[in-house]
Amino acid sequence: MNAEIQTPVNLSRGPIRDGLVRATVLRSTLLGEYASLLMMAHAIFGAIWWAAAATKNPAALIMALSGLWIAFRAVGGLAGEKSTTAVSILMLIMTGVLAITGVSRVPEWMTGSIIAPIVSTILLGVLLIVEFLDGRTRSYAGLTNPERRKRNGAALKLAFVGLFLAWGLGVPTVKAIYRLSHSVPEKLDMERMSFVEEAGFRCGEAMVTACFFALGANIGSFLNVVVWRMPLGISIVHGDSRCPVCSTKIASRDNIPIFGWLGIGGQCRACGTEISPRYPIVEAIAGTVFLLFYFAELISGGANLPVREINTYRGVLWIIMYPRWDVIGLYLYHCYLFCVLLVLTLIALDRKLIPRRLLIFAFTVAIGLPLVFPDLALVPAWPSSTAGLKSSMMFVGAGAVVGLLIGCVLRWAWKKTLRQESSELIAVVPAFGLIGTVLGWQAVLSIATFFCGLMLLRNMLTDRVDRLLRHLFAAVLIHHLLWRLMSYWSGDLWPRAGSTATSAIIPLVLLSICLVVFRRVECSRLVNRL
Ligand SMILES: [Zn+2]
Repeated sequence: MNAEIQTPVNLSRGPIRDGLVRATVLRSTLLGEYASLLMMAHAIFGAIWWAAAATKNPAALIMALSGLWIAFRAVGGLAGEKSTTAVSILMLIMTGVLAITGVSRVPEWMTGSIIAPIVSTILLGVLLIVEFLDGRTRSYAGLTNPERRKRNGAALKLAFVGLFLAWGLGVPTVKAIYRLSHSVPEKLDMERMSFVEEAGFRCGEAMVTACFFALGANIGSFLNVVVWRMPLGISIVHGDSRCPVCSTKIASRDNIPIFGWLGIGGQCRACGTEISPRYPIVEAIAGTVFLLFYFAELISGGANLPVREINTYRGVLWIIMYPRWDVIGLYLYHCYLFCVLLVLTLIALDRKLIPRRLLIFAFTVAIGLPLVFPDLALVPAWPSSTAGLKSSMMFVGAGAVVGLLIGCVLRWAWKKTLRQESSELIAVVPAFGLIGTVLGWQAVLSIATFFCGLMLLRNMLTDRVDRLLRHLFAAVLIHHLLWRLMSYWSGDLWPRAGSTATSAIIPLVLLSICLVVFRRVECSRLVNRL
């Protein structure tokens, strides 16, 4: 009997050695594998350019070396060694300093492009997080799930404090030290601040940013309640949060978004019932969407929005402290759309029907706001329309009609192809109606094309046709971030502000091709199965 012979497992040793390159969290999934390859390609490209500029320039040499280090680490080189982390931290500090102080005597396009020091700093930060997660996976071996979650909660809190300190105190410190040895042209307001002023200002910025994430996470927490209670007909205003099994009231400190769930290890304090990780995940998604748009749409002065000009004065100070209500309004209106889409997605995920009360409320707000505040009707529905109530009505009307029509067509086409109805298919119609109402008819066509493209890709890669609304959510997100670029590059071939109905031809043709291919693929599968 050989059963007694066991290979000794040394947990502290970490991932299996296979030469210099080892498996890491980053490369454990297909997506991560692609990400690491992309990272490597980018880093090598950057390293070559910086090396070419490195003649007698120590800063450029540092950038070239850090590029090589990122490339090496991205494919898992020397993963799990203590010295690796130390080298990465050293590189991060050096590129971070270069990002703050700037690199002189190199072509301007290198310091303001995809190979800029700030990009290297971010990539090194990502690699350190991967390193950290690898370390966690090893040290977590043998722990129960609740224990792991509690530790994750503590680590997350530390990370938040670390980011806050790095932005609020670290950056001004580096700047102050740099200014001792270099003369900085006193052009910008930031440069005229003293260390204390700048530290105070940056801490304020970090606070505002954290507040926007917290706002999103709290709204996500409320959306959880809506998704759970509304289909059951329970009031969403009255009544405390309770454990679904033992009905113990959940203490308010355990109700804090994300951290509350991590703090109690994902278990009810009273009866130990597992509380679904869906709650913190939804809170994190809502918080992330609010934060993403905070950077991309709000404090960038509307950099992603078509039609309107980007604000000349941007940043936390010029957009939020001296409120620019038109950008803030658009930001909140668009966040509202994402919240409603999130709710529709979650209710459909539970295989429930969308309550009529919810739809009435969602459409009333989406239609009513632009009528009261005409600035929210961003993209004129027609070339000749001028701003005002009439224009808002046309924007909302055309958007809603086109959205509902597209939604109905997609639902009909999929129902015919799949030969079955699902809660997700039903929810596609109001989802498109809302998208049209909030973003305009032009956006509906772009989003529908993205959406069908994504679904076709999923169908071809995985043989599956589920997760409709999650892909719709992704399509809206992608469209929203690329909105300005798209309407800038597309010309009159694609629907945008001021274009007529003929611009709808290309997206509609693409959409039809997607649906036909989709149907053919599905039909041939059905035949194969029979
Ligand atoms: Zn309980």
